Amino acid sequence: MTEQDRPDGDAASRLTLEQKASLTSGADFWHTQGVEDAGIASIMMADGPTGLRKQDGEPGVSMGLRSSIPATCFPTATSLGSSWDTDLVERVAAAIAREARVEDVSIVLAPGVNIKRSPLCGRNFEYLSEDPYLSGELGLAFVRGLQSQGVGASIKHFAANNAETDRMRVSVDADERTLHEIYLAAFERVVTDGDPWTVMASYNKINGTYATENTWLLREVLRDTWGFAGVVVSDWGAVHDRAAALVGGTDLTMPPFGDDDAVVDAVREGSLDESVLDEAVRRVLALVGRAQAVDRDADDRDDAAAAALHETNHALAREAAAAGAVLLKNERVGGVPVLPLNDQTPLLVVGELARTPRFQGSGSSRVNPTRVDVPLDALREASSADVAFEAGYTLTGTPEEDRTLRTAAVEAAARGDRTVVCFLGLPEEYESEGYDRTHLEIPPAQVELVQELASANPRVVVVLANGGIVTPVAWSREVPALLETWLGGQAAGSATADLLLGRVEPTGRLAETIPFRLEDTPAYIDFPGHLGHSRYGEGVFVGYRYYDTKRIPPAYPFGFGLGYTTFAQSDLAVDVVGEGDGVRATVSVTVTNTGGRRGTEVVQVYVSDLEAPVARPERELKGFARVTLDPGASERITIELGPRAFAYWHPTLRRWTVEPGTFTVSIGASSADLRRSVTVQVDGDALRTPLTAESTLAEWFADPVGGPLVAKALGGKDDEPSPTETAMAAQVPLSTLAGLTGFPRADVDALVRQLTNPPAEPTTATEPDQPAEPTSDQP
Ligand code: BGC
Repeated sequence: MTEQDRPDGDAASRLTLEQKASLTSGADFWHTQGVEDAGIASIMMADGPTGLRKQDGEPGVSMGLRSSIPATCFPTATSLGSSWDTDLVERVAAAIAREARVEDVSIVLAPGVNIKRSPLCGRNFEYLSEDPYLSGELGLAFVRGLQSQGVGASIKHFAANNAETDRMRVSVDADERTLHEIYLAAFERVVTDGDPWTVMASYNKINGTYATENTWLLREVLRDTWGFAGVVVSDWGAVHDRAAALVGGTDLTMPPFGDDDAVVDAVREGSLDESVLDEAVRRVLALVGRAQAVDRDADDRDDAAAAALHETNHALAREAAAAGAVLLKNERVGGVPVLPLNDQTPLLVVGELARTPRFQGSGSSRVNPTRVDVPLDALREASSADVAFEAGYTLTGTPEEDRTLRTAAVEAAARGDRTVVCFLGLPEEYESEGYDRTHLEIPPAQVELVQELASANPRVVVVLANGGIVTPVAWSREVPALLETWLGGQAAGSATADLLLGRVEPTGRLAETIPFRLEDTPAYIDFPGHLGHSRYGEGVFVGYRYYDTKRIPPAYPFGFGLGYTTFAQSDLAVDVVGEGDGVRATVSVTVTNTGGRRGTEVVQVYVSDLEAPVARPERELKGFARVTLDPGASERITIELGPRAFAYWHPTLRRWTVEPGTFTVSIGASSADLRRSVTVQVDGDALRTPLTAESTLAEWFADPVGGPLVAKALGGKDDEPSPTETAMAAQVPLSTLAGLTGFPRADVDALVRQLTNPPAEPTTATEPDQPAEPTSDQP
């Protein structure tokens, strides 16, 4: 590789204004612009996140949603999210990157780390979780996996793109604390620890300004606060004004709209500072340099190598699909749990989805799979007993056709001593990129089918396939077993057989809550928005943060999932070191496999802040670990917590803050099943929010410096006030007090001045350093 092939920052100074403008938009739908004269190469991007979607044929003309080259279709993000397995997610992303490399794709447009604000979002299958911590950890693993192979990531969609309705225009109206704690936190984790090559700016507006033009988002938060040094690329078609996007912080507009002249003109007219353009160009050149620096000579590109890679990746897709499935229910019938099935048990498989599986979502993430494992075939192959089949319903047929198939299936279920495995789920058109869902139900024909099957046969196992959650309330009580397989990728069929027959243990846990009713969901009133605005009125109370705080029992809580064995946790200890914003804690707990099979437990750490000046969720996930144990075996595991485990984003100070005080640290098997808790003390200086003339007397008195000052200033001016007068006065801003009592306004201003220029040593409200002591284990 010559020096010329590796463009660096200085190359920018040798380019013409026109060349520079062209570098800030693509050459076609998938390539960056090259500049041959200057030795600047063009590099290719392609979708993720479920696998490689490299457009087949001419890349310049469209998004190519219909035709792409064959690639391994891995489980969707919903499934990966439910694995709670960072190592697995990293391996899946590395596998996607290996397929991308041999296809000369330098950047895979993934992962999506948007938060599942409402289960109605049509694109939830592309996102990992309702929880920012879990999304951040898994998103980081994905980026590490991709970039370990020399393929850049594009974390998307930055930010607050949590609905498909009106996504290209809507203004997400959310307060800064909500944005930081819920909608930005996963991006922050990935940016600060994963060095993603690119971040994709979303279509929507945030508080009235398009993400692509949003200087608060792209400059103040992303670059200045988090230190992002890579390229901000627009979502496809998200730029409306090239100059405004450059000023806002978008470096690369995709795809090109033939409007590079607008950039040139803006510089010539003086409305766009050329240094802003230069800055974007330097970053694009650095990105091209990064891609060019990857040694691709070792990549084996012949057909045999491609086939071998696809074979290896199919096996990984099968492992991942099994890891992401969540066993929601497994009751005993005749004294034994229905699952796992014995391979000698005769089966009746019911459901068109067993023969025509749905394993991925629609839209830009749709992959052309290298092959597809059909669940019915996989069960027939894996089982030594007879496996009969009845379609039970159609995916696109008439109610009459559904009725005929249902009758046949129910009759078959009533005959003989067979276990029924019934495949249900959402048909293709129920969910997709580009539009939202309106309810959480599976089709009525499927509901009727499962209800009738359950009356005909006591051993009905339901296998669900859907990207967004469905509520199984209308029928799940009537069946003894329920396995949620999501949209599990091209190997979901064989993975499902592995799980049902117990060849693989179910280890998945819900990464989002399944509510009883749509009306129970936190964004029910505001989703997807009205008149061009989507008001995030529920604030930080998203997912289990809402259900737990409001004490609304869900059908299946966040973090829940069964296995074929059981676990116990004991001897929880939490050691706290440091204080305030520097606090850290080590959580230790002993996990024991109390069942009869080898299995994996996902140990979840939840933290509750018992007292805070802002409303905080009942509990928040702050750590997790997976532990695999043989029957009867125990292991002591430790999970480290950093300051963020205790912090909230302070709306007045406009930064993350750890407030000294008491916190509860719990170990749970889900957010609703806490097994052990301890209370810990976090030390540090009492928080001081800036006092102004508008601060109330109560706020002045609560401040360790302001309190004595105001007491001194007011002292002796009045008779001793009654308790009622004191309580009323507490809510009065100092400036208003001046108007009401004759307390001179000049004295108020003097007090505020004294605070900003304190005359003497400030005092603090707490004792000097004291190491925090964990209290004892409280089951
Ligand atoms: C989607 C992105 C995708 C891009 C390119 C957009 O419509 O929102 O996720 O990467 O298209 O296909």
